[in-house]
Amino acid sequence: MKNIKSDIIGLFGGTFNPPHLGHVKAAKAYREQVCGDGLIVMPSHRPPHKLIEDGSPTAKQRLELCFLAFGEIGEISDYEINRDSVSYTYNTVKHLEKIFPNKKISLYIGTDMLFYFEKWYNFEYLLENATLAVASRTGEVDNSFIQECDRLRKKYGANIILLELEPEIISSTEIRELIKNGGKAENFLPAAVYDYIKKNGLYSPEPKG
Ligand code: ATP
Repeated sequence: MKNIKSDIIGLFGGTFNPPHLGHVKAAKAYREQVCGDGLIVMPSHRPPHKLIEDGSPTAKQRLELCFLAFGEIGEISDYEINRDSVSYTYNTVKHLEKIFPNKKISLYIGTDMLFYFEKWYNFEYLLENATLAVASRTGEVDNSFIQECDRLRKKYGANIILLELEPEIISSTEIRELIKNGGKAENFLPAAVYDYIKKNGLYSPEPKG
């Protein structure tokens, strides 16, 4: 890993199946507002909380898609996809703490993950040892995620930052569905990601090759 100047390592993890413009916009805001050149984008190997559907890219292809989407913005790490086991953020944070003993760790999460955070493996450790950077995915008007941040702060002493970000209201699930149904996904994807998906016949109902 290159020499990182920032005092903060920012872990932007996800399935990235595929990475979309919402991810890229959030990663840029995270870089600018929190972690600078300490941004590490890390596709997960086998996410504990969601099943990977048939017809999805391999882990290696998701890694390649991440290089195409985020290569100009941050470091792309193959640490989790190379682990032959379920990827828990806890294990990854312990790993990062070993590599960067003098830096602080931050975790990027969208609001969907925030409401689920207490189900994460060893979440108390994460809240004690890392800062959460939270971005709204939908621009919720009821501010329920702000209340959730306050609740986690009060209950666990969590250190939580809210990112300033006008959300792109899109998910990988919607993009997969769109492609499967022959819709126009290019408006939601970085051009290089779209080209790669097309070239490799990913998510497509047509037989590959
Ligand atoms: P899926 O639809 O397959 O569940 P996803 O679009 O939620 O995928 P992930 O790879 O699970 O994407 O997301 C990785 C991280 O990026 C998570 O913290 C998630 O909350 C966040 N994220 C996903 N989409 C957006 C978006 N449109 N804006 C901001 N953050 C997002």
